[in-house]
Amino acid sequence: MEPLSTPNPAPADLIVEGGRLVTPEGVRNGTVVIRDGRVSTLLAAGEPLPAGPRLDARGRYVLPGLIDSHVHFRTPGLEYKETWEHGSRAALAGGVTTVVDMPNTRPPSLDEAGISAKADRIAGRSWADYRFHIGADPDHPELLADLDPRIATSAKVFMAGHHTAPVVFRDGEQLRRAFAAAARGGVRLVLHAEDQHVFDLLDVSSGAPDSYGQYEPHRPRSGGIVAVAHVVRLVREYGTKAHILHVSSAEEADLLTAAAAEGLPLTFEVTGHHLSFTHDDTTRRGPRTRLSPAIRDSRDQRRLWQAVLHGQAVTLGSDHAPHTVEEKNRPPAEAPPGLPGVQELATAVWTGLHTRGVEPDEAALHLARLMGDGPARLFDLPGKGRLEPGADADLALLDPSERWQFSARDVMSLCGWSAYEGWTFTGRFTTTVKAGHVSWDVRTGFAGRPQGHWLQGAARSLEVAR
Ligand SMILES: [Zn+2]
Repeated sequence: MEPLSTPNPAPADLIVEGGRLVTPEGVRNGTVVIRDGRVSTLLAAGEPLPAGPRLDARGRYVLPGLIDSHVHFRTPGLEYKETWEHGSRAALAGGVTTVVDMPNTRPPSLDEAGISAKADRIAGRSWADYRFHIGADPDHPELLADLDPRIATSAKVFMAGHHTAPVVFRDGEQLRRAFAAAARGGVRLVLHAEDQHVFDLLDVSSGAPDSYGQYEPHRPRSGGIVAVAHVVRLVREYGTKAHILHVSSAEEADLLTAAAAEGLPLTFEVTGHHLSFTHDDTTRRGPRTRLSPAIRDSRDQRRLWQAVLHGQAVTLGSDHAPHTVEEKNRPPAEAPPGLPGVQELATAVWTGLHTRGVEPDEAALHLARLMGDGPARLFDLPGKGRLEPGADADLALLDPSERWQFSARDVMSLCGWSAYEGWTFTGRFTTTVKAGHVSWDVRTGFAGRPQGHWLQGAARSLEVAR
């Protein structure tokens, strides 16, 4: 067999031996040689190995460390729901080595000073690498035109509000100014695209829900469809790069697929929970899957899986958004939307791919695209998301066929609960390598120090800035 790259006789820092490597060129058996925190070489099966400590990866997929570009780790100000340490440990246990965190904290991170202050609080405490989405400020949308890419290259826009989303673009003119400013600044908008006016209208006639069965009709698909149509018009007008988060309905997926086919710079995310649950689960089991956007019907779920399998969705996100048990158990109108998920996301999706009869090699390529190359390209994360020489030595090892039951004891989020409790997963992340070190192993737990760093964007060149 041809060597995958030129041999290097120098000793290695770590040799991940004999796994099924998930590379941009496809899946093949081989060994990953790590030196100085980077992937040095990929060796084909049977090639001689250099000296150095070995990690046995036989029987397991070796994926690039996964990226979850949608987490709410609750720093600053909401640390009673989640701490950065708990969230980033949960990430590693789910194969995720890079996260992009949301700005709706207390206070929200709406400017460069807010992001810098948040980075100071996190420094030295994160097990995963991290980037931040800054919050687009409805009162100062023009800030996006001059945003320093070292601080953030993407900005979150809430078009509808909920308990932990108080900063909302209610005014069409503000939204227009944000799209114009983001286009000038080269900033990618990431959007919670539900239309607040649709919900306000329905609230007048139907009031607040008093059961979980009423929750989905209370926040119906029309909110998402109207908002997505609005975003399509603005992207067409200004050319702004936009990524629609947590698409929940078949209609939104259809609209966004058509917009991408037209050539618009418009992409979308699907969450693990919209792929794993339906409205019936919320009706039967209540608050844990009370989410925003709401979880819809099996028809929508099938369409979202189609978006995953046909390459229409560009990222998978967990929307990891923990709340305390006490908060979630409040009456239906008061319980906040959100669930923990950074730990469960890739395993739940792997299980779903298996259930749908997708061959393991193909399933591994889907994961590497949706939680690797896709988010790395969208959010400019060099060295991340691709298993290839020169990449950062972040790896996720997956046993593809272990069947195991997920319970509250497995939950690493501070909140201590999961919507997936009692699920039997197929496939298990067994070992996570971060910056060339085994940072987590299912048998031995966490090792060493938190190895995560702030992945700042590249400074903009003067030509682009002008
Ligand atoms: Zn979110």
